[in-house]
Amino acid sequence: MSLTDYGVLARSPVRRPATDRSGMPICPECGKPVDGTRGTHVLNVPESADSEFPDLPAQIRVFGFVCDLHVTRVVLPLATDAAASNLPDGWVGIRLRFADELARYAPVLQRELPAAADGDGGGSS
Ligand SMILES: [Zn+2]
Repeated sequence: MSLTDYGVLARSPVRRPATDRSGMPICPECGKPVDGTRGTHVLNVPESADSEFPDLPAQIRVFGFVCDLHVTRVVLPLATDAAASNLPDGWVGIRLRFADELARYAPVLQRELPAAADGDGGGSS
């Protein structure tokens, strides 16, 4: 008898994108150019460092880059702020714990976040 890892997700390494001499985004671990991966990517088991959203879904989509040249795909969120002001409506910045233990804002889809405790009155599921 053995326990399987069925349903268990490996946490995605989260890193800040680096840039090469010409300013192109590259993977900070291997140096691969990642500009072609710019878009929406799934982040597995995000580690929240945000007091407003301490509990995040097991998978959440972030905007940024990825590098596939690793055992576990490295996710490189675009640098942003709390309002994700460098992204279109629908994105918001939340603080995630990155692989270097620092907390930084990462752009996530607002609709995927747990309902905020604002309480707009009624409509509980
Ligand atoms: Zn890489």
